[in-house]
Amino acid sequence: MKQFQYIRPATQQNVLDAITKPGTKIIAGGTNLVDLMKRGVTAPDKLVDINHLPLKSITPSKTGLLIGALALNSVVSENTLVLQKQPLLSMALKAGASPQLRNMATVGGNMMQRTRCSYFYDTTMPCNKREPGTGCGALEGYNRMHAIFGTSPQCIAVHPSDMCVGLAALDAVVVIAGKKGDRRIPFTEFHRLPGDHPETDNHLAPGELIVGVEIPDNNFSQHSYYLKVRDRQSYAFALVSVAAALDISGGVIRNARLAMGGVAHKPWRLFDAEKSLIGKPATEASFKHAAQIAMQGAKAYEYNAFKLKMAPGTITEALKHAAGLA
Ligand code: SF4
Repeated sequence: MKQFQYIRPATQQNVLDAITKPGTKIIAGGTNLVDLMKRGVTAPDKLVDINHLPLKSITPSKTGLLIGALALNSVVSENTLVLQKQPLLSMALKAGASPQLRNMATVGGNMMQRTRCSYFYDTTMPCNKREPGTGCGALEGYNRMHAIFGTSPQCIAVHPSDMCVGLAALDAVVVIAGKKGDRRIPFTEFHRLPGDHPETDNHLAPGELIVGVEIPDNNFSQHSYYLKVRDRQSYAFALVSVAAALDISGGVIRNARLAMGGVAHKPWRLFDAEKSLIGKPATEASFKHAAQIAMQGAKAYEYNAFKLKMAPGTITEALKHAAGLA
C-alpha cells in the first residue's frame, strides 16, 4: 500500500480547510475505503479522519428528521424516532452488509461507497471507473450483478447501497457543507449516472463535506417495506431490491414512493410507477401494473437478463408487503 499522511483536524472548519487538495480522502468508518486502499484501487496522499466531529445526532427538525452524517448505520436502524417515523429506512439499513459492518459504517460513508463491480476491484482488468479510458471489463464480461437502467457504453455498474434506496424513496435531502457555503441536494440527484464520466459517482464537489440527511415527514410509516433479493440471506449485495411506501385510506392509494437498488448506477426512483398507483385500489393488480410501467426502458446484458423478470416481481411483492397483502 502507498504511504499516506493521516490527520485529524479539530473542527469542521479545519476539515474543510484540509480537504481542498486533490489526493485527499475523508475517512469515517472506513468500511469501503480501507478495502479500496489495500487493493490499490485508490491511493490517497492524505486521509482526513472526521470521526470526532459532532455529526452523530438524530433529531427532529421543523419538517422531518435530521440524521447526522456520522450516525452509525446500526444506531440509525434501531433509533426510536427512525422506527416510528421512517421504518422503511430502518428496514433498508438492516438489509445491508453485516452487523459488524453496520456498527462501523456511517450514513455519509454509506452514501459515498463505491460500486462492488469485480472488474473495478481487479487492478489487472480494464475499468473506466477506476482508470478512465481503459474500457469496461463488465460490458463483455461476467455482468450478472450489473445494471439494467441508465447504463452507458462506458460503465454498467450498480450502486451497492441499501440505505440509499430507502432514502431516495423517502424524498431525503443531503445537507452539505463547503468553504463556499452550505447547500442541500435532493437525494435522488446526489448520485449520478455514468454517462461519459463513470469515475464520478455523485455530485459532491471537491472540498465539500456531507454533514447529514434530512427526511421530510410523511404518511408512509404504516405501509412501507424494503425487499431485497440476493444470493444468500445476509452479507450479500442486492440482485434487485425495492423500497416501497404507500399512503392508503379506505383501500385506495393516496400517495406512493418506489425506488429500486441493484439495477442502476444510482438508487433508481420509479416516478412513473408511483404516479400510476395514485387513486388506485391497493390490490395486486394495481401493483403489477405499476411494476410493468417501472420496467420501461430496461436493458439487459449477457448474464443479467434474469433481472428483467426479477425486478417487476420484486416490485409487486414489496408493494404487497407494504399494503399488508403478502
Ligand atoms: Fe468499471 Fe463500470 Fe465497467 Fe465495472 S461496469 S468494469 S465499474 S467501467
